[in-house]
Amino acid sequence: MSLTSVAKPRAKPGEALAAKLVRLGISREADLVLHLPLRYEDHTQLTPLSDLRGGETVQAEGVVVRSDIQYRPRRQLVCLIEDDSAPRGARSHLVLRFFSFYPSHQKTLAQGNRVRVFGEVRDGHYGLEIVHPEFKLVTRDTPLADRLTPVYPTTAGLSQETLRKVIERALNADPNRTAEVIPEGFMGKRKYWSFADAVHFLHAPPPGLSALTQKALDARTHPAWTRLKIDELLAQQLSLKAHRKARAARRAPVLTGTGKLTGELLNRVPFKLTRAQERVWSEIRRDLKRATPMQRLLQGDVGSGKTIVAAFAALQGIESGRQVAFMAPTEILAEQHYRKVSSWLAGLGIDIVWLSGSLPAKNRRKATEQLASGKAPFAVGTHALFQEAVELPRLGLAIIDEQHRFGVAQRLALRGKGMAEAHQLMMSATPIPRTLAMTFYADLDVSMLDEMPPGRMPVQTRLVNQKRRSEIIQWVGKACSAGRQAYWVCPLIEESEKLELQTAVALHMELTAAYEQKLKVGLIHGRMKPDAKAQAMDAFAAGEIAVLVATTVIEVGVDVPNASIMVIEHAERFGLAQLHQLRGRVGRGSAESVCVLLFEEPLTDMAKQRLKVIYEHSDGFEIARQDLQIRGPGEFLGARQSGVPLLRFADLERDIALIEQARDMADELLANDPAAADRHLERWLGGKQEYIKA
Ligand code: ADP
Ligand code: MG
Repeated sequence: MSLTSVAKPRAKPGEALAAKLVRLGISREADLVLHLPLRYEDHTQLTPLSDLRGGETVQAEGVVVRSDIQYRPRRQLVCLIEDDSAPRGARSHLVLRFFSFYPSHQKTLAQGNRVRVFGEVRDGHYGLEIVHPEFKLVTRDTPLADRLTPVYPTTAGLSQETLRKVIERALNADPNRTAEVIPEGFMGKRKYWSFADAVHFLHAPPPGLSALTQKALDARTHPAWTRLKIDELLAQQLSLKAHRKARAARRAPVLTGTGKLTGELLNRVPFKLTRAQERVWSEIRRDLKRATPMQRLLQGDVGSGKTIVAAFAALQGIESGRQVAFMAPTEILAEQHYRKVSSWLAGLGIDIVWLSGSLPAKNRRKATEQLASGKAPFAVGTHALFQEAVELPRLGLAIIDEQHRFGVAQRLALRGKGMAEAHQLMMSATPIPRTLAMTFYADLDVSMLDEMPPGRMPVQTRLVNQKRRSEIIQWVGKACSAGRQAYWVCPLIEESEKLELQTAVALHMELTAAYEQKLKVGLIHGRMKPDAKAQAMDAFAAGEIAVLVATTVIEVGVDVPNASIMVIEHAERFGLAQLHQLRGRVGRGSAESVCVLLFEEPLTDMAKQRLKVIYEHSDGFEIARQDLQIRGPGEFLGARQSGVPLLRFADLERDIALIEQARDMADELLANDPAAADRHLERWLGGKQEYIKA
C-alpha cells in the first residue's frame, strides 16, 4: 500500500504529499492511524459574538461588514464581522486581524460573506479581536463539527486540514487497519481498551467531555492513551527481544587468551586490584571466551578504576591474535588513555596506534594503514576510530569509555561499523536509570565496580559565595606554595565558546598576577591544539604547574593524583554530572582534597537543588539518581540532540508501570503466539527502523 494512493487521483500532488508525510515518519497508511493529535479544538459549538470574552478560545460566526488593509503600525488585513446575537436586535462585533495574508484571504473575507472563525479572543484597542484566526466561508446551515477537532504534529507546507483528511480516510477506509492483531483474551484480561476504540477516540473524541476526562486526555493518562502506550512499549520490548535473539545467533571471535600478557600486566601495575575489579575482570574474561558477542556495560563511579580493567580485556583480545579498539569521547581523555596504557604495556612489545580527528593527514594515513593491514593489534583514540575510513579487519573487541557521552547517532554508527561481530565493552560512571535499563539498554549485561581503590581520602566540598573569591585565591596560593596542586575551572558559558575562552584567558592572567612569580599558573582550553593541551597536562602532571586554569575540557576522566584542590567558578551553572566528574578529578592521591564551589546569588531553584545534592552526596550513583529526578531520562540518552526518535507516546518517567507490564506481555506473547507478536511489530514498526538501542 503506497502512500501515493492516499492522495489520488493526481499523481504529482500525491507525491508531494507523500514526501511531506515521510518527514513526519509516515510511510504507510498504517502509520497515519498512529499519527495522533497533540491536542484538540472544539468546533462543535458557536459562541454568539455578544457572549465573547477576552482570553477564551472560541468558534464564532458572523457576516463581514468591513474588510480592509491598514498600514499602521504595519501592513495588516483587518476585518469586522457582526451578528445580531445581542438583545433587541443590536449588533455585536468581532475584529479579525492578519499580519500576513494572501489575496485568497481577502477573497474569503470579502464584505457580505458569512465566515466561521476559530481562535483566542483578546481585548484589542478597538474592542474584541482574534489575531490570525482559522476561518472558513460558510452558509447559515453549514453544519458544525460533531466531534472535537484534532490538531496534529505537522511539518512545513502540510496543513491541518489535509492531515485531518488523509488520517480520517486511513482510519475509516478499512476496518482491518484498526482490528486487533493480538488475540482478544491476551489483551482483554488486562482490561485495555480495544485498539479500534482507542484510535477512533483519540483522533475524534466526542464533544462535551467532563473536565476530568478532558484533563486525562491532555495529560495522556486517558485509557485510550494507555492502550496506545502499552502497544508502543510492547512493540519496543518485542523489538528488543528480537535483537537479543539475533545477537545470540551472531558469531564473535573466541578470545581465549593465553594469560601471557595479562599475567605480565598483573605483575607490573603498581597496585593490587580491588575485589570488585577482580570480579568484574573475571566476568569479562568469561564473556570474551564465548562465541557470541559480548555487550557488557562496566559501571563504576568516577575513580573506581575502570581503565585498568579495560586494559586487561584488551590484552586478552591481543593475546588471542585479534585487534582491539579503545575509544573515548574526547581527545584529551583518549590521549590520556593512550599514555597510561602505553606506560602499563611498555616493554611488552605491543604496537599501540593512536588515532584522532586532529591527527595530521600523513600520520593518520600511516595509522590507518597499520590497522588495515591487521598487523597493529591495538588502536586507542576518539570516535575517529569508527567515523573515518578506518578498517580493523581482525577486530575482536571494541572498548568504549564514557559511552553515555557518545550520542545515540554515534552509537548506532558504531553498531554498523563491522563491530557487530566484535565483543563490546562499554564503560560509564553514570548509572542507567531503571526505566532505561528495562528499555533502551535491556540488551546489555552489566558489571559493577562498587568499591573504590584503597587509600582514597574523601573530598571535602565547600560552597563559597563568589563575593569571597579573593579569599579563595589567597588560600589556594598558600596551599600551592606548600606543594599542593589545584585545578581552577572557568565558568561554563553555554551560549558562547568565544566568551568562555576569553574568560579562561582573563582568569589565567588574573591568577598569574595574583601569585606574582611565585607559582606557575597554566592554562588549558578546548581551542588549543592537541599538542599544546598535552603539553599543559604533562607539565601539570609533572608538578611544574601549580595551578591549572581550565575550561570544562578537563571534565572527563583526567587523572593527576597529586592535584588535591578543585575550584569551580559559577558552580551554579554546571550540571550535576559535570560537577561530580570535576570533583572526581581530586581525591585521587593520598592528600586530603578540597573542592570549592563558588556560586553567585541569586540562585534558581534548580541550581539550589543541584548544589545541595553535590554538597550532601559523594556517591556518584546517588547523585545520578537525584540528577535524573531533576532532569528526566531523555537527557541521559542524549537523543534529543541527535534527533533520533525515542518513544512517541509512552513517557519513561511516568509510565514505569506500563513498561513493566509490556515486558511481561512481550515474554508471554512470544511464548504463546509468536505470529501475533510479528503482526504487532509490523503494525508499529513496519518498514521503519527498529527502536534504537544502546
Ligand atoms: P575511572 O573508573 O574513573 O575511569 P581510573 O581508571 O581513571 O578511574 O582510575 C583512577 C585512578 O585509580 C588511576 O590513577 C588508577 O591508576 C588508579 N587505580 C585503579 N585501580 C586501582 C587500585 N586497585 N588500587 C589503587 N589505585 C588504582
Ligand atoms: Mg575513566
